[in-house]
Amino acid sequence: MFKKVLIANRGEIALRILRACRELEIKTVAIHSEADETAMHVRMADESVCVGPASAQSSYLNIPAIITAATISNVDAIHPGYGFLSENKRFAEIIEEHNIKFIGPKSEHIEMMGNKIAAKKIMEDNKVPTVPGLNDLSDMKKTLDFIDNIKLPVIIKAASGGGGKGMRVVNKIEDLEESINAAKIESKKSFNDDTVYLEKFFVNPKHIEIQILADSNGSVLTLGERDCSIQRKHQKIIEESPSIVLTNVEREKISNLCVKAIKSIKYEGVGTLEFLYENNKFYFMEMNTRLQVEHPVTEMITGQDLVKEQIKVASGNKIKFKQEDINFNGHSIECRINAEHPETFIPSPGKITQYHQPGGLGVRVDSAVYQGYIIPAHYDSMIAKLIVYGENRNECIQKMKRALEEYVIIGIDTNIQLHQKIIQSNEFLSGKYDINYMSKFE
Ligand code: ADP
Repeated sequence: MFKKVLIANRGEIALRILRACRELEIKTVAIHSEADETAMHVRMADESVCVGPASAQSSYLNIPAIITAATISNVDAIHPGYGFLSENKRFAEIIEEHNIKFIGPKSEHIEMMGNKIAAKKIMEDNKVPTVPGLNDLSDMKKTLDFIDNIKLPVIIKAASGGGGKGMRVVNKIEDLEESINAAKIESKKSFNDDTVYLEKFFVNPKHIEIQILADSNGSVLTLGERDCSIQRKHQKIIEESPSIVLTNVEREKISNLCVKAIKSIKYEGVGTLEFLYENNKFYFMEMNTRLQVEHPVTEMITGQDLVKEQIKVASGNKIKFKQEDINFNGHSIECRINAEHPETFIPSPGKITQYHQPGGLGVRVDSAVYQGYIIPAHYDSMIAKLIVYGENRNECIQKMKRALEEYVIIGIDTNIQLHQKIIQSNEFLSGKYDINYMSKFE
């Protein structure tokens, strides 16, 4: 097992990883920007190193500074968390060149899945259903024929895309050319790659994803699904597991296909296969080769600590349990608490003057904020994840309602009220909501 791990992240996920390390008796090194000197992850780590000024580009994305911090603090592994450098193939490679273990998959797998066209091809080869699409858009006639076949609307997406960037929905054929060009320009700007592809645009799908855990011994397990359809501008807001719309047969079928595909590429670590789900059919969209923000709902219903497992398999340990040992119990929901106005969604950095977080049986708060903490304006507005567990979905929703009522955050705006509205709405209660749910709050 590793002796010392550098956590190349901030906020709640840095703390989440730190807690897992501590339980595994691994020493931790936090990195931080000048704006995060008083942050909780810095206070709690065994050591900390400042890696640059406030902007993420100069600090949490500053590879030379992070490698220097890892070298001087003599760590044997780096955990990237999510976001920042977690899916940066070059970062994973450089780390390994320095004889430091990257807690994540091999760089070749990051590269393979980082290209969504290549990822879809691998899934198709393994009989995983994918979103119908066309990769080569150079021949306009072929493109038009293809659209004629699958029918409008279609969506243009960036092959190297992420965070919802570089996507354009095309409803009218006369907008096609302009949308392709706009998606290319945005993709070049954001990802330095102007490769774009076309997909059928699903009008009312759910976003359902499958959690995978794999070790270097060839063992691949699935930990069920998460329904992440409550999203705004392609950013998830509420996630739950299990999904109320899936039958056991459907769940088992898609999970088995995912396991087979992941085995075929000899993937290691945690990973998530994201699907659109419409009319009882799954369509693979992309794979994330890292820990997801919403991993806690899976932990709550399986009782498995995904971060500890991820660290253990990265250090070369075999997974100690088998698929049949994983029991799915009860229901879990996560609400992402953002520092933003509940109606305008404008970020609200600033000082938290009063803070009280909910508790009680089945209530978990993953956060790095505290009373008196000043939320910097430089980073993501998510400040906490409120995760609840109930024996069934109804109990879970009741518990979330109660926990949200109890949550006091004064001094800044938050989306707590918005969460109250969502979880008590008829669509949410019925479970039949889709990815367009949030458009009514626009
Ligand atoms: P990113 O990596 O940028 O997050 P994804 O491919 O995961 O991009 O897509 C993000 C979101 O965009 C999905 O969760 C879904 O809401 C929407 N989306 C993507 N592709 C389609 C599609 N073909 N039809 C309908 N919605 C889509």
